[in-house]
Amino acid sequence: MKLETTLIEKLESASIAFSNWKCVSREIKQTYIKNLGKLLRSNRERYAVMITTEMGKPITQSLAEIDKCAQLCDYYSTINYLPDVRPVDTELEYSSILVEPLGVILGVMPWNFPFWQVMRFVVPTILSGNTVLFKHASICSGSAAAIQELFLNASFPEGVVGYLIADHDQIEQIIKDPRVQGVSLTGSELAGQSIAQVAGRNLKRCVLELGGSDAFIVLDDADIPRAAEDAALARLQNCGQTCVAAKRIIVHKNIEGEFMVHFIDHYSRYLPEDPLDPRTKLSRMARADLADELEQQYQRALSYGAHVVKKLERVSDTEFVPGILAVSSDNRILDEEIFGPLVLVLFCEDDQSILETANATPFGLAAAIFTTSAKRIEWFTQELEVGSVAINQIFRSDVRFPFGGRKNSGYGTELSLYAMEEFTVKKAVMGK
Ligand code: NDP
Repeated sequence: MKLETTLIEKLESASIAFSNWKCVSREIKQTYIKNLGKLLRSNRERYAVMITTEMGKPITQSLAEIDKCAQLCDYYSTINYLPDVRPVDTELEYSSILVEPLGVILGVMPWNFPFWQVMRFVVPTILSGNTVLFKHASICSGSAAAIQELFLNASFPEGVVGYLIADHDQIEQIIKDPRVQGVSLTGSELAGQSIAQVAGRNLKRCVLELGGSDAFIVLDDADIPRAAEDAALARLQNCGQTCVAAKRIIVHKNIEGEFMVHFIDHYSRYLPEDPLDPRTKLSRMARADLADELEQQYQRALSYGAHVVKKLERVSDTEFVPGILAVSSDNRILDEEIFGPLVLVLFCEDDQSILETANATPFGLAAAIFTTSAKRIEWFTQELEVGSVAINQIFRSDVRFPFGGRKNSGYGTELSLYAMEEFTVKKAVMGK
């Protein structure tokens, strides 16, 4: 299959831009990133309304998403990064490592955080000297165009950041193209398998940020009312459509009754409302087919033996009154990522079984643990098979820390200094 002329032009533009952009000093790149932060802040409302209109999240959460993007720009525009030339202490006269960008990197992006996911991938990748083309989810074409305009307005040269509209076959051709040196995907396991296969066949660098089924662990010495309130928010923000949402609440049996009273109380306060109303905490799901899939998962969980604590009620093609299911650790629904307003609750006798339950998932993105014991914090932190652990707080990605998963949650690192190293080659220089 031959690529359309418009896609070839985009590839060519990104490739030509790379030969200049890699030579631009980091200081100048950081000045442009600073401009990005300012523009995000001055267009905050406009971008937030665009997000809410396209994928339906409550407006306060869209505003928070734009604020987080601006904070990411603050971080990367002031970061003390490692130098591009790193001396190695040897007896040799020439003895150094040159850190060089790879070239054009493709981003394949999802709809759940239409600005944040793109900015999180693009900013460190171009600060390292690469150029970027990104393909957004089909429902986010307005956000994609706004993001490209944002980069141009921030003084980034033409071609450094571009977006393209392409179907899955065209994405395959683009990954194969010799001008493209790597690909970063945020999305489902299925999309990850498909992209990784194409990248693998063509020997291209690949970062995958895939699904999660994060455990939210509440031990019997925790501040129960606070943990219960946080658990409801951790599951239901963004209408449950977050890779690091608390999809499994794992509670010590000793506090089952007390925790559930508080949890059901907080959880029941989330009801679908108008996404553009600033008082709204829960709104619609992004697409009707995703809502269909959630209902099917609910039915599957019941057929595998789940017990209804609070019924999942569909009130329109994309809106639900959120549901709660109590499940035992052998329920096969635990192998699936549940991306919507439905939570699974499990009760365990002791710390060992809580840990085993938390780790008994194909995913390994993040976890949260609520306890007042430093010893238990240390043990769980070491033993949880995840990429991030939050202690006595909801897990939220933070630009200052690396972010990435293990197992079926993918591989590679985003955010922090480490993200800047993903799409680079470390060239060894040695001799007399
Ligand atoms: P997908 O993973 O299918 O979509 C994410 C992005 O990948 C989109 O841009 C999509 O493009 C693209 N994509 C998907 N498959 C391919 C492919 N074979 N080749 C090239 N590009 C591809 O997510 P969905 O929107 O369909 O959501 C389905 C499920 O995925 C959710 O219910 C949830 O479980 C999970 N998901 C997880 C996310 C996370 O943050 N972990 C984010 C989004 C979804 P296009 O839109 O054109 O299909």
